[in-house]
Amino acid sequence: MDERFEERKRMVERLKEEFGISERVARAMLKVPRHLFVPPNYSREAYADYPLPIGYGQTISAPHMVAIMCELLDLLPGHRVLEVGGGSGYHSAVVAELVGKSGKVITIERIPELAERARKTLKSLGYDNVEVIIGDGSEGYVKEAPYDRIYVTAASPKIPEPLIEQLKCGGKMVIPVGDTIQTLYVVEKDEKGRLKKKRWGSVRFVPLVGKYGFSSLF
Ligand code: SAH
Repeated sequence: MDERFEERKRMVERLKEEFGISERVARAMLKVPRHLFVPPNYSREAYADYPLPIGYGQTISAPHMVAIMCELLDLLPGHRVLEVGGGSGYHSAVVAELVGKSGKVITIERIPELAERARKTLKSLGYDNVEVIIGDGSEGYVKEAPYDRIYVTAASPKIPEPLIEQLKCGGKMVIPVGDTIQTLYVVEKDEKGRLKKKRWGSVRFVPLVGKYGFSSLF
């Protein structure tokens, strides 16, 4: 237990009350010291339920968004998961708790400085089931494919074809699609490779920049 445990516990209790977050996801979030993933000048706000800047124009998602995406993904021990948009590494740590030591999280981040920082934070906390890759995650990461679960933490103009290809049959993907305001989709790929898309609701993420994302920020 660390010195911010009580604050974290209050955050998790609020998420349970307001969003009906499950006991499993709540327990995972209770384990991850979010304050170590945000820049020191925002540390005080680490357990507030809103996004925070992490530098380079990017943000760490609000805790409720992390929780909701984890619920929608239905993560189980042993799952191999691809995260596109590693950012601070916080979301991948929560997912790592849910898939356990027998599972694996591959997270791709396009900004090398952020990837490097996430790598360091995750390593110092002993998350050796998370691998941080620098690159364009809109192309997925074929080397470790296929994945049981894929989630994207940046807004995509459409669902990138390589991500569909790299998802296992029977797998699930969660992805925000759209420009200024996006729709969060849950995509299921059945045993025959057919896709079923469900809309969860409106969300707001920073843009996915890359070959199958937006071409640039400006
Ligand atoms: N999951 C992160 C949230 C990061 S915000 C966290 O827990 O902190 C989204 C991130 O996606 C940003 O860091 C941005 O640099 C990254 N990103 C945008 N386009 C990308 C791409 N094509 N490939 C990989 N990362 C990308």
